[in-house]
Amino acid sequence: MNTTVKFACPMDCFDACGLLAEVADGRVVRLKGDSDHPLTRGRICSKGKKLLERLYHPKRLLSPIYKEAGQWKTLSWEAALDMLAQRLASAIRRHGRHAILYYADSGYGGLAKSVDHLFFSHLGGVSVPRGSLCWAAGMAAQRYDFGDVRGHAPHDLAKAGCILIWGRNPVATNPHLMPFIQKAREKGATLTVIDPLVTLTARQADVHLQPKPGTDGALALAMAHHLLATDRIDRAYIDQHTTGFDRFAATLPDVSPDRAAVITGLDADAIRQAAEHYADQPPAAIIIGMGLQRYVNGGNTVRCIDALAAMTGNIGRSGGGANYANRAITRWVDREAGCPPAAHRNDRTFPLPRMARFMRAAAAPPIDVAMIAKANPLVQMPDVRAFQAAFRQVPFKIVIDMFMTDTARAADLVLPCTSILEEEDLVFSSMFSPYLNYSRRVVPPPDGVLGEYELFRRLASRMQLDRYPDMPVRRFLASAIQPLTRQFGLTLDQLASAPFKIPDADIPWSDGNFATPSGHYEFYSQQAMDDGGHPLPVYLPPRSASPDFPLRLLTPHYPHSLHSQQFAFRSDRPVASIHPEEGFHHDLENNQLIRVISARGQIEAKLKLDNAIPRRAIKIDQGWWRESGAVNCLTADTLSDMGENAAYFETFCRIESTPNERRGHTP
Ligand code: SF4
Repeated sequence: MNTTVKFACPMDCFDACGLLAEVADGRVVRLKGDSDHPLTRGRICSKGKKLLERLYHPKRLLSPIYKEAGQWKTLSWEAALDMLAQRLASAIRRHGRHAILYYADSGYGGLAKSVDHLFFSHLGGVSVPRGSLCWAAGMAAQRYDFGDVRGHAPHDLAKAGCILIWGRNPVATNPHLMPFIQKAREKGATLTVIDPLVTLTARQADVHLQPKPGTDGALALAMAHHLLATDRIDRAYIDQHTTGFDRFAATLPDVSPDRAAVITGLDADAIRQAAEHYADQPPAAIIIGMGLQRYVNGGNTVRCIDALAAMTGNIGRSGGGANYANRAITRWVDREAGCPPAAHRNDRTFPLPRMARFMRAAAAPPIDVAMIAKANPLVQMPDVRAFQAAFRQVPFKIVIDMFMTDTARAADLVLPCTSILEEEDLVFSSMFSPYLNYSRRVVPPPDGVLGEYELFRRLASRMQLDRYPDMPVRRFLASAIQPLTRQFGLTLDQLASAPFKIPDADIPWSDGNFATPSGHYEFYSQQAMDDGGHPLPVYLPPRSASPDFPLRLLTPHYPHSLHSQQFAFRSDRPVASIHPEEGFHHDLENNQLIRVISARGQIEAKLKLDNAIPRRAIKIDQGWWRESGAVNCLTADTLSDMGENAAYFETFCRIESTPNERRGHTP
């Protein structure tokens, strides 16, 4: 008889869906959404459905492998763990702990799989990255403004009178937000989308504004200018809950709608109307995406947008907010459970987008061992060629993955790990969903595959880390939710019966107590200044194109893949989209093969002439592997203005036609 088991989607996604697996004769035969899940209600996307394909894919790694004289050889787990322990111990003996580099990202969101952090903290500290490839500029911005990053509960967004989606495409990347937007619209709310691209979400909007890429900060300040000029601000809220408004207001005469029209390419009246729209239909919710902070001005752009919400009193108000991410659950899960006190750790850190530079330059000590998990940096890291060269020089490299990714191929030792369907774990998102999910083990892992929790436990024993918490995974998970147990009496058994949502966290900052040094919303942030930035939100121009490289490269998420994961079994060329007039200008036709060239490298791509793309830009979805043509062969390791985030969208390219018979990218 078939059985049905509940689990959760572990992908680095806004939604953290509840899923059901149908099992027959010990094998998963079907996946579908869990209609009982209070947020995701049975709907899942194509990425979630592919979890089953990955589970039984013939290319899945089923034993540790080791590269010897250029050839891969299988070895037992005992031998693999001995080799790993000896290599780590030898690096420490010869150079010290900082000769070990450890990088794990968000390829899998489960808590028990993030136990690597526990292991390396017991080791006493190694070389680890800071910053992010993804969202850190916006996170830093909201920490300056609010003191923390919190979002409204999805059902509260349905109470908005006006919704402004700024640089996010939830139809493709955050689908469970859309029913709440729909509910708000049924009650009369208007939807404005601000995005340089004509996205699936923009097509559904009442108003779509298309500023030039990287100019969103100027648009936000011009809207603020108009709100102030027409007295559409909430003076009582400003006086009671914010600091620094007068200093901020004093900068606004510099960014009038007329001036912003020149910068953004928008009509000045459209900017004024957008501001009036936003202020005149309270409560107004802004939903901020991550693409707009992938520029050198990305953090300030988010600060400029936040300011609109604060000056109109749309903070701490039902149906409002400046919603970028949502750490409602994160604050209540103890990721440090079982770790030694931070004071006992001594990490050497470096900016993640510049890992290649760090690996090349590290001298005291040099990097002797690099270990990578839940990530595929040979596809995802900016300036991937530089990363590849620096990675190659590291004497011993370990990758933990389910498949032979581009990064695994470049390693010396590859350790095969489990799927979410083979693990008991806790899954949650820090971006949107306010629910903590328990994910059951659906089937046991195949012989030869070990989950990270067990892997690091055995490694800790081999390395004689006596204080490493040697406990079953269930006890580890129970200790991680201790803050919730203490405050709300939540147990793991209760969590297994239904996802948990923090009570009373639906409207962030409704008590007026902000987590900033002043306890207020900070238009003026001394902390930002102390960190070397501007204390006030400012518009900083993005980088400019040059005659050699006239097209700005935009690399958003492909709707059917979470970063590079679902490109695993493809070898076709990426699609490069440009505006039809740009194609006409270059004498290019739809579907022809082209070369896309930047100062960093080049790839081949299939051309798409598309009215959805602005002039002077080229769009290639990120995630294609190197066999196809990884777009990060083109990007530079530029940093954002705050948060040490990868400013991917500050890359410029040119395109050339390629004889159709030529194949293979030539980085
Ligand atoms: S990728 Fe996101 S939307 Fe898709 S199934 Fe997973 S959590 Fe749900």
